Amino acid sequence: MRIGFLGLGAIGAPMAAHLAKQHKLTVWNRTAARATEFAATHGAHAARTPREAAAGAEVVLTCLPTSREVAQLLDGPDGLEAGLGRGSLLIDCTSGDPGTSREIAQRLAPRGVAFVDAPVSGGVSGAEAGTLTVMVGGDEEAFSRARPVLSAFGKRIERLGPVGAGHAMKAVNNALLAVNLLAVGEALAALVKAGVSARTAVEVLNASSGRSFVSEALVPERVLTGRWPQTFRLALLDKDVGIARGFLRDIGVEGPLLELAGELLGQARAELGETADHVEAIRLIERRAGVEIRG
Ligand code: NDP
Repeated sequence: MRIGFLGLGAIGAPMAAHLAKQHKLTVWNRTAARATEFAATHGAHAARTPREAAAGAEVVLTCLPTSREVAQLLDGPDGLEAGLGRGSLLIDCTSGDPGTSREIAQRLAPRGVAFVDAPVSGGVSGAEAGTLTVMVGGDEEAFSRARPVLSAFGKRIERLGPVGAGHAMKAVNNALLAVNLLAVGEALAALVKAGVSARTAVEVLNASSGRSFVSEALVPERVLTGRWPQTFRLALLDKDVGIARGFLRDIGVEGPLLELAGELLGQARAELGETADHVEAIRLIERRAGVEIRG
């Protein structure tokens, strides 16, 4: 298939690398050097504009920070919309917001372009391994066209409902990650301050009912070791919690835990900056508690 891919960021690049193995791939990235380097490494073509990346492609994928950038990319004579042909399919793998995606789908429908939101979970390592979970929103027909393309990097590929449903699922998932990250950080900081060995506390937690992905994977790999690799920016997790808060408000469900997590993450983002990794939120908890969770 002829496929276009826009957004070669931390997770977009390894996803696109899988597509390049199976399809004729054209890539575009805002910082052009990244696209040129990717194309040279993976045997793809680097487009100069979003329009060129979409021209002649049956399927186009986007993986940008938020839905706002996706909508902006559609605009203008060199924009994505100008390049998308009748009968093509746009798959948005951004962790975006349901409302903007519905607007995008409505905007493209009269041009005969189908749209699905298809955010992913599993992190950079999951993208590299080709084992991502993909949460799709869109009609059955568009989903059946998207599925074989998504299987290049996805293991569990699930349709959740109409356009926007994938984004809602993803935002709620990441909101749970955020709540858990903060809660585990607070709990361990308290235990360590009380004199419990950090490693023992984590091992006991992971053999008990309070365990989670954060305590089983992120804390041993990053917090206990004091290594803070940059894989998923705190700013992006903050954005996801904001989407989840909006989603709950829209459907009339109270979410006080989520509201608080959003406030705390916002503070962490302001203090640590736009490039900090999400797990570094625990660093802030450590700093405030006056302890380090290492072992
Ligand atoms: P990065 O910040 O690493 O990359 C962002 C990408 O978007 C880059 O290619 C960047 O281009 C491009 N970009 C940023 N702003 C614009 C703009 N205004 N116009 C055009 N392109 C732009 O993000 P990730 O790859 O980590 O994340 C991408 C999406 O995937 C996000 O929605 C995120 O929430 C989601 N996600 C990320 C995961 C992860 O582990 N990293 C896990 C699951 C989902 P440039 O190179 O020029 O900066």
